[in-house]
Amino acid sequence: MSARGGYVYLVGAGPGDPGLLTARALELIESADVILYDRLIPQAALDGAREDAELLYVGKEGGGASVPQAETQALLLSRAQEGKTVVRLKGGDPFVFGRGGEEALALRDAGIAFEIVPGVTAGVAALAYAGIPVTHRGLARAVAFVAGRTGDESELDWAALAQFPGTLVFYMSVGRLAQIAASLIASGRSPGEPAAVVEAGTMPTQRTVLGTLQTIAAEVEREQVGSPSITVVGPVASLAEQLSWLGKPPLAGRTVAVTRARAQASGLARELQQLGAQVVQAPAIRVHALPGPPVQPSRYDLICVTSANAASELFERLASEGLDARALASARIASIGAGTSSGLAAHGITADVTAERSTGEGLVEALADVPVARALVARARGGRDVLPEALRRRGAEVDVLDLYETVAEPLSAETVAAVRAADYVTFTSASTVRNLLGALGQLSPSTRVVSIGPITSEALREHGLDVHVEAQQHDVDGVLAALLADARREP
Ligand code: SAH
Repeated sequence: MSARGGYVYLVGAGPGDPGLLTARALELIESADVILYDRLIPQAALDGAREDAELLYVGKEGGGASVPQAETQALLLSRAQEGKTVVRLKGGDPFVFGRGGEEALALRDAGIAFEIVPGVTAGVAALAYAGIPVTHRGLARAVAFVAGRTGDESELDWAALAQFPGTLVFYMSVGRLAQIAASLIASGRSPGEPAAVVEAGTMPTQRTVLGTLQTIAAEVEREQVGSPSITVVGPVASLAEQLSWLGKPPLAGRTVAVTRARAQASGLARELQQLGAQVVQAPAIRVHALPGPPVQPSRYDLICVTSANAASELFERLASEGLDARALASARIASIGAGTSSGLAAHGITADVTAERSTGEGLVEALADVPVARALVARARGGRDVLPEALRRRGAEVDVLDLYETVAEPLSAETVAAVRAADYVTFTSASTVRNLLGALGQLSPSTRVVSIGPITSEALREHGLDVHVEAQQHDVDGVLAALLADARREP
């Protein structure tokens, strides 16, 4: 920390695969007060940020909305001058065509302490994921990284580039490929030299187009290759035919809408992306904690937790009373299912009883032989009364604790359109169904509806939707497994 306390980390986030974020980057993201991030950073990169961190998008989009560099630098300086720990997160490596050098100079001029955290650059990583080594004994002993387009539109020295004794890697090249190839050929590079373009390198949607300097622009046009893409020219490009190693992931080419509350969606979304799906996030609900009297857990011999949210809200409530998991020591803990049990486990509690079917009825069954005198049911407002009623019939005194409610979040028209057109829409609670379907209207007839379990399915049917896939295990893993099995059956 500097004397004033402000500190800026210029951090590379790698080319897209979250697995290529460095350990240092993850550590800094976790501790930052402020994160300024670009467009081409892995979506998952921000998952580890603190709840209260300020996340500022400062991306530059080809043609679309963008934040001017001067504004980005001004933000960077002002947040640091407020004494904040700032992470400036950039795609790939911050010093490779990332304007990281300019930002570092501005920090130096302002007397703000900074650190550079290198990242995995697209020019190496996207090619590696396509099976193209940038150097190779006997084929290339040098590699040049070239900006296909620059802010100032200065012309490249084509003659020098054409004569470069090694691999040429062009960043920011996809819109100018015909011109780049023609200029290289005109300056003496062989038209038959192998070339390749890798689109969305290291991401689930990665594609490679192979050709020669002569043909590559037309191939790219025909295949409608988009951004981000990187171009490689040189004999190493043809090694992709032998070394391409990335299998097609099982959900490649499918879009899957995730309708959970934003706070819960990221885990499911990330797993879907890793399986190759294009994910549409539709956070139709938000979890809103409810105020209430102190919990007094020691009064109960049984505490039933009926959702993963109830688990986390219960611990929030205990913490607000200055308590922690030890306060639950005298009671048996019953969980409605695997997802809830992992929510409890995150706070050091192993459920004594877990329902096999994640329903109120399932939990009643699981508790059949468990003695109970005073029970607490921790749940969402408006939850079903199956469990408290069954316990009361057994003579127990039952308190119902409404810890939270789910409230509808408005969705943008684009999100609604994307959900309607998705190949799959996943529903992980009845409350999402109730909150979302009003806004959603009609799904496309080919959209397959995936439900986490019977209660959610019932809510879907009540709203007139067919349920095509129902998870056997009523948690996120169960949803993924059921969706994958369905995708295999329905190619
Ligand atoms: N600092 C970044 C580069 C920023 S310039 C780095 O080190 O990777 C942006 C260009 O990088 C894009 O136009 C594209 O050419 C390339 N790029 C970034 N991510 C990419 C990816 N996942 N696949 C292919 N090219 C990528």
